[in-house]
Amino acid sequence: MSLNVDEINLLVKKGLRGELSSFEKVLDLLEKYDKVPEARFGMYSLIFQIAMNVFIDVSKYCEECGGKCCKSGYPVPVYKFDYKELRINLDGNSLKYLNKAEENLYLLPRPCPFQKGWMCSIHKFKPYACLSFPFATEDEQKDVITSYNGNGIPEFKVPEYCIAGRKVKEILEDIIKELYTRLKRDPTPRELYNELKLRYYKG
Ligand code: SF4
Ligand code: SF4
Repeated sequence: MSLNVDEINLLVKKGLRGELSSFEKVLDLLEKYDKVPEARFGMYSLIFQIAMNVFIDVSKYCEECGGKCCKSGYPVPVYKFDYKELRINLDGNSLKYLNKAEENLYLLPRPCPFQKGWMCSIHKFKPYACLSFPFATEDEQKDVITSYNGNGIPEFKVPEYCIAGRKVKEILEDIIKELYTRLKRDPTPRELYNELKLRYYKG
């Protein structure tokens, strides 16, 4: 399978939205570079993220938090492949919230105009950056990526205010401990993903 960057990004997006066949294609692609620390990091970070987006219901934690990740911080990057989806799904008035920063990059301000209460009113087609918070976003994980050498499971950083992210990290750490006892080593990304699917997937 030969895919261009936009096609890969769309696959990741679909995967993080819950399309497991797309997610598994991304794992297949990254596994070819399993010995490269960045690729291994990418797999674990996407697996922690899909656990939060799809497998574990974190809505009560987000409600308790009140949606802080959408209220403050740098503007949200909206890439070309995000923009294409937004253009199809939003009316002209809503598109005006997106500020063009450079060729193929728009920025969505925070507080985000699409937040309603603690929820996202464009959940089904929200940008990649929103789908990948906090385990697969560079802002949160920059230092972790830099220091990760490909051995073991990365020690992901989760902002103190993100109750959902902290809960997911706690749950995954427990699963990893159980797998470690069974396997006598850390689970590979695929083993961790399969275990999550086995425990949580109801599709
Ligand atoms: S900061 Fe975390 S807990 Fe709060 S709404 Fe965002 S993802 Fe949910
Ligand atoms: S698009 Fe949705 S998830 Fe992203 S910042 Fe806005 S309200 Fe939050």
